Amino acid sequence: MATAAQLIREFAISGGPKMLRLKVLGGGRRVGKSALLVEGSKTRFLMDYGVDISGSEPEFPLHVRPRDLDFVVITHAHLDHSGAAPLLYVSAKPKLYCTGLTLELSDVLIADFLKISKYYIPYEYGQVEEMRSGAAVVGFGDEVEERGATLRFWNAGHIPGSVMVEVEVDGKTILYTGDFNTVDTRLLKGADLEPFERADIVVMEGTYALFDHPPREEVERAFVNDALEVLDSGGNVLVPAFAVGRAQEILCVLAKHGFKYPIYVDGMARRVNNLLLENPSALRDPDFVRKALTSAIHVNDRRDRERALEQPSLIVSPAAMLKGGASIHYVKELIEDPRNAIFFVSYVMRETPARKLLETGILELETLKKRAAARIEWYDFSSHCGRRELLSVLERLDPKTKLVIVHSEEEGGKRLAEEAARTYGLEVHFPSEGEALELG
Ligand SMILES: [Zn+2]
Ligand SMILES: [Zn+2]
Repeated sequence: MATAAQLIREFAISGGPKMLRLKVLGGGRRVGKSALLVEGSKTRFLMDYGVDISGSEPEFPLHVRPRDLDFVVITHAHLDHSGAAPLLYVSAKPKLYCTGLTLELSDVLIADFLKISKYYIPYEYGQVEEMRSGAAVVGFGDEVEERGATLRFWNAGHIPGSVMVEVEVDGKTILYTGDFNTVDTRLLKGADLEPFERADIVVMEGTYALFDHPPREEVERAFVNDALEVLDSGGNVLVPAFAVGRAQEILCVLAKHGFKYPIYVDGMARRVNNLLLENPSALRDPDFVRKALTSAIHVNDRRDRERALEQPSLIVSPAAMLKGGASIHYVKELIEDPRNAIFFVSYVMRETPARKLLETGILELETLKKRAAARIEWYDFSSHCGRRELLSVLERLDPKTKLVIVHSEEEGGKRLAEEAARTYGLEVHFPSEGEALELG
């Protein structure tokens, strides 16, 4: 097996690869900064170009010369898939393929990332505008031809607007899942399974390779009952949630269970709610979602924030990790009263105030450190496949399919790779960042 350096040299000498090649520019043996370079005989393109914001400083994927790219596909708006893409528009203008919602939601998330980052970001909002101006908007089921490659876009069931990408290039069919979830949620239908059955190569995320999510209804019931307990005894519940997807899922869960207490929505989630209502085609049941989102009270100013806390209420607010945003304001107000509760509903990243609070019961923000008296809980409303779902997808693959695992931490990815090879007889790769796979 050639090293990455040898492959780069070979590429430079020959002027292009002779066979189909995938190169992992980011998201190899880790979650964060997903980036996959595909090189065929006539085309070279990127699928996702994300930034990792879980640590103290943002991390970007490996470099690629933007003018060498024919086009770029972004699977969904999360920053770990979209946040480095504007870098590609500093010196060139590769065509961008994504859904309309991904275009709008990534704009919201990237603009916020630029605004709140304390570190130097090597692009400006002007590049986001460049990226948007030449974008080709696609929808579920669409098929496009570009430089000898045929692209098809499938519902990924992960967040609103998220797609899996099926690519036919040089006689091979590659399915890149991006982040995906095969389970129906209140907000979205589960991912399309059909393209798995005909793919020669499946590049699959394995975020929860080691972990089974509990049944959805159980999680919903526990969340709603616990919230009612807090509110019935006169407290407030803060739900720090990702603004895109999770905040809306929580509103739908509450609506489904006929929640009677006032529900407030603060911060970026308000804007995202409006974008979803303008783009209902990505949703499982647009009418129900509209009812759920419009029955929540949008917080517009300081007076609204005070009002939200004057009575028992549930407040859904970013940032999910308590790293900024309106949730900081609420957590400070609520943390010292045992009648209140902070209910986390998102994946809790390492090195964040949310993780610290969950693990130690101590709230540690930049200017404050307090032991929590409020009740602290976490609920598994995941938008990724768990282990059981990943395995049931693998069961559908033709035994000749090559499986490439990305977007997975070391241990989980290794275990999933072993199981896929042993149980399903698949050829499995679990590449590191910078590794290239010849798949001709
Ligand atoms: Zn995601
Ligand atoms: Zn991701």
